[in-house]
Amino acid sequence: MGWRATDFLSHMVGFMNAVLDCVFIETTTACTRRCRFCTHYYHDVIPYFMHQDIFFKIINDLRDMKFSGRLSFYMNGEPLLDRRLESWLSIANSCCPDALNFINTNGDLLTTDRALSLFEAGLDVMKVNSYTSKSAEKIKALVRDLPDHLRRKINHNDASRYDGWSSRGGVVELKTESKPLYPGPVCPRPFRQLYIKVTGEVALCCTDDQCRHTMGDVRSNDVESIWRGESFESVRNGFVKDSELPSLCYQCDLEPTYQEVDEVRALYS
Ligand code: SF4
Repeated sequence: MGWRATDFLSHMVGFMNAVLDCVFIETTTACTRRCRFCTHYYHDVIPYFMHQDIFFKIINDLRDMKFSGRLSFYMNGEPLLDRRLESWLSIANSCCPDALNFINTNGDLLTTDRALSLFEAGLDVMKVNSYTSKSAEKIKALVRDLPDHLRRKINHNDASRYDGWSSRGGVVELKTESKPLYPGPVCPRPFRQLYIKVTGEVALCCTDDQCRHTMGDVRSNDVESIWRGESFESVRNGFVKDSELPSLCYQCDLEPTYQEVDEVRALYS
């Protein structure tokens, strides 16, 4: 999809003010799969689990900020491998009661009991991406058997035939040619989202899974200071004032689209 001048201008205006409405917490880097469209396929990723002190620090920082956006319990791992997820959802719920708790899973480990316990613990929305038709059939059957009010909280995406993946900054080998999109449009991610790696380091964005551009570290700084700090400001200026961007952006083919958290909340409320 091409970007017209009017799209560009409306994004410029829309994202001039940075509003933190989505925080990703990589509770684990472990995964059940090794998909060719994922950066994990191209790197030796050690299956780490986030230390609980780091998680508590993040949640306390977000509580102090009265964070009410989307709290995503994943980044580049499979969240259902983390057996602490339910207890961490409960903690997040009591510290940030207005946040929308969200996970994105490949569904390999999803059972009806696990879905019930996650929703019971405070999960608001679960997106399930099925990467094989067998997995898609399993999830369809599981969703069918859930009570109505929980079925609506699962967004099942059958991606078994999808091939429009991003190159993730030139890391992922694609079947079709893809061109970098930046500079040009304003990328919404540094204006809306914060990605906290399993180590506590803050990455530039979802494309930066190797943390090539570290924006800060929640172990030594609070989330709000990182979000308002020089590293993020410099990236935002790069987009709106046409100054230099992080090198990864010049190789990035991720569309500059973004669904505001209020829209996501309305869909699942
Ligand atoms: S690498 Fe891509 S997704 Fe990340 S900030 Fe740059 S343009 Fe946005």
